[in-house]
Amino acid sequence: MTPSDSSQTDTMLPEPGFRESVDIMFNRAVKLMDLSPGLEEKIRVCNATYVVRFGVRLRGGIHTFTGYRAVHSEHMEPVKGGIRYALSVHQDEVEALAALMTYKCALVDAPFGGSKGGLCIDPRAWEEHELEQITRRFAYELIKRDLIHPAQNVPAPDMGTGEREMAWIADQYKRMHTTDINGAACVTGKPINAGGINGRTEATGRGVQYALREFFRHPEDVARARLDGTLAGKRVIVQGLGNVGYHAAKFLSEEDGALVTGIIEHDGSVYREAGLDVEDVKQWIVSHGGLKGYPEATYAADGATLLEHECDILIPAALEGTLHRGNAARIKAPLIVEAANGPTTAGADEILRDKGVVIIPDMYANAGGVTVSYFEWVKNLSHIRFGRMERRAEEARHQMLVNELERLDDMLEHRWSMTPDFKEKYLRGSDELELVRSGLDDTMRTAYQAMRKVWHEHAGVQDLRTAAYLVSIRKVADSYRAKGL
Ligand code: GLU
Repeated sequence: MTPSDSSQTDTMLPEPGFRESVDIMFNRAVKLMDLSPGLEEKIRVCNATYVVRFGVRLRGGIHTFTGYRAVHSEHMEPVKGGIRYALSVHQDEVEALAALMTYKCALVDAPFGGSKGGLCIDPRAWEEHELEQITRRFAYELIKRDLIHPAQNVPAPDMGTGEREMAWIADQYKRMHTTDINGAACVTGKPINAGGINGRTEATGRGVQYALREFFRHPEDVARARLDGTLAGKRVIVQGLGNVGYHAAKFLSEEDGALVTGIIEHDGSVYREAGLDVEDVKQWIVSHGGLKGYPEATYAADGATLLEHECDILIPAALEGTLHRGNAARIKAPLIVEAANGPTTAGADEILRDKGVVIIPDMYANAGGVTVSYFEWVKNLSHIRFGRMERRAEEARHQMLVNELERLDDMLEHRWSMTPDFKEKYLRGSDELELVRSGLDDTMRTAYQAMRKVWHEHAGVQDLRTAAYLVSIRKVADSYRAKGL
């Protein structure tokens, strides 16, 4: 359902479109800042959107596809953002998403401008080899115009795309730029064997978990959401069990003791007061194509109603516009974590704010993906396995410790002898996945603290979203000023 369809439900007020929604939220924040009107406008507008229509010969005929790549802000280059495959993709959407990328990257200090792409396609309607042809053709159009380039524009996965598509894009780039030694850095989210990094696939969901963990480290903030205690035992409803929703729900339930009581998918919802086994539900969806018939829970065909159910934390992790003027007043969750981009329309945002609901905003909550993309890009450009240097240093330190322990063991006449296993553990150092996770955790903590400082200290700021905008717009403005614009 698009925001404009859903607005009809119980209010006559028009629902703004996605890009307008982002602009409304941006404007709320800049009102509290001292930016010159020229600079404000420069930051807000989308610099350019390239629209391409290309034909691919498939199934005995020529099929025409429409693709987009929007570049919102080039205050830093390359610009960064995913490529989405969905039938609902349109210009307004990619431009809104590109703007969110600008603010997201600034907030977590990923040194990129904002961009986003999309292809109007139902990926399930095509065979793998057909999708490869379509993806390579779309990539060709973008590479030709430097809209995919390690130093200028670096895509990544988004809804409907994943490692597989990124590998095709990287390979297409290499075919067209055979001598570019940095070619692998033209796209992130690649499989490990094509220059990817460990932990990228789980990164956005992992980031949602780290965001919530950080939130719960601040009792004052937890109290603002009319909650208390820790994540353990909190009832969570997740909308969308795609890559982001699945990983977030899985980690929160398996590692933090949260109870995932409800899951909403395209064909309905399942609910279980005592908590669902996320992995089990996911496997059911994989083998049955949807939630229907899942035996361990109460199923409802109208999934959207579960958004309004009693819970502690609501995690919209699917499309934009899920929370709109039509349902915002009925949302019972005191805390919302926006794992999706733009799940709350500007209209709903206002209603929820008035109700005292705390929203951990998208540009922060789902920044885990681009953060680990940044690690992957750096890894590709440095041509050295991520963490390899640190690991060598670590190993040297560990070796010294081991020598010391062996000396002690000698002194104790080998009463405590060192097992090979223990030595191995000492010498292992940190592997790539550990480094990626700790780098992500650190990034999520730092960004949250910057945001909450503004939330608590700036008199005009009542919500985390406005705080997030303030932090990021300041950084974007500073880099424009430094460039002399
Ligand atoms: N598509 C993801 C997002 O919306 C990741 C973007 C990236 O890694 O560049 O943040």
